[in-house]
Amino acid sequence: MNSVFETLSGTQLPFSVEMFPPKGQLTLDAARQVVAGVAKARPDFISVTCSAGGSGNSSQTVDIAALIQDEFSIPGVAHLTCVGATRAGIEAEMARMKAAGVGTVLALRGDLPAEGNAAGGDFRYAKDLIPLLKQEGFTVAAAAYPEGHITCLSPQDNIRHLREKQEAGADFFITQLFFGNEAFYRFHEPALAAGVGAPIICGIMPFLGKSQIQRMIFMCGSSLPAGIIKLLAKYEDDPAALRQAGIEYACEQLVDLANHQVDGVHVYAMNHPDIACAAADALADKGFRA
Ligand code: FAD
Repeated sequence: MNSVFETLSGTQLPFSVEMFPPKGQLTLDAARQVVAGVAKARPDFISVTCSAGGSGNSSQTVDIAALIQDEFSIPGVAHLTCVGATRAGIEAEMARMKAAGVGTVLALRGDLPAEGNAAGGDFRYAKDLIPLLKQEGFTVAAAAYPEGHITCLSPQDNIRHLREKQEAGADFFITQLFFGNEAFYRFHEPALAAGVGAPIICGIMPFLGKSQIQRMIFMCGSSLPAGIIKLLAKYEDDPAALRQAGIEYACEQLVDLANHQVDGVHVYAMNHPDIACAAADALADKGFRA
């Protein structure tokens, strides 16, 4: 099974990309096209999301992670949520991953179902899933929240929960998106001071339009720097220019993070290969990628 962690330790600036299982029929064919485009950015790994509770095409997460490895020789990382899951269900999923040669998992709780639909299941938090994955020999990533998870109001609790995931066995972290790098730097220092020594890879998502960014800030509780608000106003009537501005803004964020010698950067490319390639090019231009 692959271990992304080993790949990361030998890389100047680990650079990875997230994709999701394409919607509709023929998911694997559509995924292959996305991966072929993203592969041009030469990421150190590509992670594949899954929907909590297995909705949508997330039954294909493992197959897509395997396709990334088998057909493109890029390590694939499978996201795995545990909300509402039974231990037996997770064991079956781990067996599928092993059979497919997918050795690195992003262990997540997943969002709780809407009020009134009790989640149930054998796991309360992501930290409860991590030891099971470690026991089976997986390399495990977990989620980190520079501005705190939307339901976590205390920065101290945020860091405590992060440390608990490390203590449960998380090998590295990938962050929730943030639009202002200061938010990450403000969070990273106390996290290190609290003993969170596992690498934390910074997740960056370019804004592509006003409705997308609105959805993101309400879903994730991310703050919106004035610079972005001004760009949204400037390009209000020009979606193509706004998209380009969003990609350029994200590239500037990535270069600034690289200058601050972060442990790695992860691009939420939303199945748009041009975003992954623009990010890789921006980092290469500044000498952070070969
Ligand atoms: P947890 O770490 O379990 O945390 C959940 C909440 O509980 C937080 O508020 C936390 O502070 C709190 N908490 C943790 N431990 C304790 C404790 N001991 N006592 C009290 N409170 C505690 N979702 C998907 O459905 N599919 C995906 O593919 C997916 N990919 C993601 C990738 C990344 C990089 C990130 C950052 C998020 C992703 N998500 C995904 C979203 C994620 O599932 C949600 O944010 C979810 O609500 C929390 O998941 P978690 O693993 O961080 O949960």
